[in-house]
Formats: sequence, C-alpha cells, structure tokens
Amino acid sequence: MATDRRDVIIIGGGFAGLAIAYQLAKRGADVLLLEAASLGSGTSGACAGRAQVSESHRDAHFEVVQAGLARLEALTVELDFDFEWRRLGNLMLIEHERHWQWWAEQVAFLAGRGLPAELLDRQSLQAAEPLLNADKFLGAAWCLEGHLNPLKLCHAFAAAARRRGAELRQHAPVIDIERQGRRVTAVRTARERFAADTVLVTAGAWSGQLLGRAGVSLPVQFTHAEAVISEPLPSLLHNHVGLADFYETIHNAARAVSVGVAQQQNGTLLVTEAVEMTPAIHRRNSPWGSPAIARDVLALFPRLARARIVRAWAAPSPFLPDEQPAIGWVPGVDNLFVATCFHLTITTIPVLSEWIAGLLLGEAGAPALAAFNPGRFETMTS
Ligand SMILES: Cc1cc2nc3c(=O)[nH]c(=O)nc-3n(C[C@H](O)[C@H](O)[C@H](O)COP(=O)(O)OP(=O)(O)OC[C@H]3O[C@@H](n4cnc5c(N)ncnc54)[C@H](O)[C@@H]3O)c2cc1C
Repeated sequence: MATDRRDVIIIGGGFAGLAIAYQLAKRGADVLLLEAASLGSGTSGACAGRAQVSESHRDAHFEVVQAGLARLEALTVELDFDFEWRRLGNLMLIEHERHWQWWAEQVAFLAGRGLPAELLDRQSLQAAEPLLNADKFLGAAWCLEGHLNPLKLCHAFAAAARRRGAELRQHAPVIDIERQGRRVTAVRTARERFAADTVLVTAGAWSGQLLGRAGVSLPVQFTHAEAVISEPLPSLLHNHVGLADFYETIHNAARAVSVGVAQQQNGTLLVTEAVEMTPAIHRRNSPWGSPAIARDVLALFPRLARARIVRAWAAPSPFLPDEQPAIGWVPGVDNLFVATCFHLTITTIPVLSEWIAGLLLGEAGAPALAAFNPGRFETMTS
C-alpha cells in the first residue's frame, strides 16, 4: 500500500478537528482531516449550540472563555458563513439554598470581569420568562452568552479550511495508528495509508479508543446523552433555560435527567438532556430518555403540553476525571498530539484552535494550555 505524506493528519471532524484544520491551513500547513462519517456527525452536530459562559471554571480556563466569546463574534465575518450566531441570555434556575450561595459567587465573578451577569429573585425570574412555572425556584443566575447552529459552525470551519487548501475526507474511519518507538509512522484507513510530521487526535468521545491503537491510554469517559426537538412554535422563550445543578445531577449518575431548553431561530425548541452511563459508545435512543425529557420540560413550562416533539437523538458526551480538557503532546510519542474533552467547547474552541495550531507548527505555547497537558494523567504509553 503506497503512503501519502502530509504535514499534519487530523483524526476527527467535529468542532475541534475542523477549527484546527482551518487554523493550520490558514498558516500554510498541508493538512489532511479524516472523518469516520460526515463532518459534524459526532457530538458536535448533536449539541445544543450554546456558547456557554455561566459554567466557566474560575481559573486559567476563564481567560479562554472570555477571549473565545469575542472571537466567535469576529468569526461570523472571518469565516464568511452565517452560522446563526446571536447573543442569548442563559438562566440557571436555582432550587436550593446551597446552590444560591455558589451561584451568587459565580455571578459576582463573571460580572467582576465585565460580563453581563446578575442574580434574579423569583419575581424577576418570572418577569424574564413569563411562561415558566417558577414556583419551586428561589430565583436564577442570569448571564449573557451566545448561541449558534452547531452543524453550521462545523460547515463554516470546513468551508474556510478547504478554501485555504485543507483536504477533508468524510467516511474515512481510521482503523489503525502505526507506531515505531517514539514516533507514529502511519495512519491507516481501510483503503489508504498516510504519513505525517504530526498526527492530531480530535476524535471526541472516541479519542480514548483511537489513542489505544497507538499504545496510549487516556481516561476518556463519556455519558450517553439524549435530546429532542419540537415542531416550530411562535416566540415563547427569551433565554436558554437550564437547571443550576446540571453537572451535579448528571455526573457519575447511572441515569439522570436535567433539562435545558432554548428556542431556535426557526421557532423549534431544542431540549437537552437525559443521560446514562453506558459501557460502550452507541447512538440509540432509550425507551425512557425522551419521555423523561418531556415530563421535566412540561413541569417547567406547562403551556408546552400540546407542542409536538418531531425528532430525538443520542450522542456521547466526553469528559475527563478532572473535567478539564486534554490538549498537548502525548508523553513518549514525539509526533502525536491530542485535543479532546473540552469544557464549554463552542466558546473555547475559537481560541484553543489558534493556540493549538501555533503549537503544532512550533510556535511557543500559550501559558493557559499547560494546565491541560495530557501528561497530568500519567498517560501510559506502552
Ligand atoms: C446533548 C448535548 C448537548 C451539548 N450542548 C453543548 C452546548 O450547548 N455547547 C457546547 O459548547 N457543548 C455542548 N455539548 C458538548 C459538545 O457537543 C462537545 O464538547 C463537542 O461536540 C466535542 O467536539 P469534538 O470535536 O471534540 O468531538 P466530536 O464532535 O464528537 O468529533 C469527533 C469526530 O471524530 C470522529 N471519529 C471517531 N472515531 C473516528 C475514527 N476512527 N476515524 C476518523 N474519525 C473518527 C467522529 O465521527 C466525530 O465526528 C453538548 C453535548 C451533548 C451530547
């Protein structure tokens, strides 16, 4: 089998792989991206499209979130693609006293750094979302975030990367990563074999199993997440509305529901998510997921009782044990780089992809990336 040679091979065509392909191609690199199915068909195309800010960590990560929000605004022009970007408020509904205190601090943190954010009591919450059944809530944490169409963002990066000369291959699953000692020597699909100066794994929830092909183990975990979308409806909601204890509810639970809902530009209501820990990645909807989502969203918005759900889907949602991304060179393999398990992906990827492209091409690394070094997990390279 003849070997085709590139500067960089990227495995995985979601937000991460596509944004990095664009940034590399913009800098003149010869890039090949291999995607197992269609572009954006992994977790990226299945997501809610929030450019999240509310859940920022109060550490080095916040710097990335703040810069990323500004970059998204600029990308609407730079990529020359309408990915339905808009600023949208996010309400985190607070039920318990113990969450009130945490969110009061979070809102003070965000507002202190210049982001529009405030704590609303029940009366102000009700005024902000008149259709919400606010009875059981103390109030909400509000923050001005962003919102977009996630598949369109993928296509925006893809089109811009192609214009700059990147080759993006779809339906080309990587079946092996060949390694000799400290170097990856080839990446194989069923039909072809490629070599590159650098191989980048951006395969989201699938990154763990792919790295395993190169004898590397990274503790990538994932939840199986389900979401639904309604028929188009007249204007009902003014913000994305979610629950303040979302991460507490879903993480490490065998099965859980925590709803978040936003009205899309076409009037549909996209509602996330019912989650389950599954031993392997699969994309099937469960018999309990959609009914549980419908039950919980109706408790929040009883007026939606007659709204029809037109589609439901499931996707893996990847994360690492410390809930920070893994971004960096894989210890012990000189030309293998991983970028996966992002927190607040849509908001952070515009900035992270620029920094990652710079690092891959030998520029000095941005200081914030040091915290995300995959070597922190004592990555086992056999
Ligand atoms: C229901 C839900 C709602 C969410 N809402 C939001 C939100 O509002 N905002 C937000 O920022 N984040 C959200 N997320 C999280 C977000 O979707 C993910 O963090 C993000 O999509 C990850 O992007 P990625 O590029 O790392 O992975 P992916 O998009 O999963 O891309 C990885 C790609 O690798 C491909 N691949 C896998 N194996 C191979 C192989 N062997 N060879 C070649 N290609 C391969 C896959 O097909 C896939 O396309 C949500 C997630 C879910 C499940």
